[in-house]
Amino acid sequence: MSAPEKTVFELIVERAIPADIVFENDRVIAFRDIAPQAPVHLLVVPKSSEYRNVTELAAGDPALLAEVVAIAQQLADEYASGEYRLVFNTGSSVGQTVFHVHAHLLGGHLPEGSLA
Ligand code: 5GP
Repeated sequence: MSAPEKTVFELIVERAIPADIVFENDRVIAFRDIAPQAPVHLLVVPKSSEYRNVTELAAGDPALLAEVVAIAQQLADEYASGEYRLVFNTGSSVGQTVFHVHAHLLGGHLPEGSLA
């Protein structure tokens, strides 16, 4: 049986493709989204490719999910005003394209009242 195809985020973790990395430790990496949807748009990504979405991460490693949130706050303090929106797309019908869990950290001035 052949190994499952690697996601683009696994390739970034392995340095097989470049990314503008803003944070890294042994469990989490964060980098700028290639197609930013906000003045600050970072992706906060557990390095493990074991979890396809936030539901799987929450069930499998809740401490790692908590770490992702703590790192998001740290990055928002550093790159935005400390205030931010965190989005986990879960499923292709709502726009998930990379099936390796990741948080979109959106900051800067976002339209008031809009969730899009
Ligand atoms: P999703 O739609 O799965 O929630 O989010 C995937 C995100 O990954 C998208 O916002 C997309 O712009 C970003 N993305 C896809 N390929 C690359 C890449 O090669 N490099 C970076 N930095 N971001 C990527």
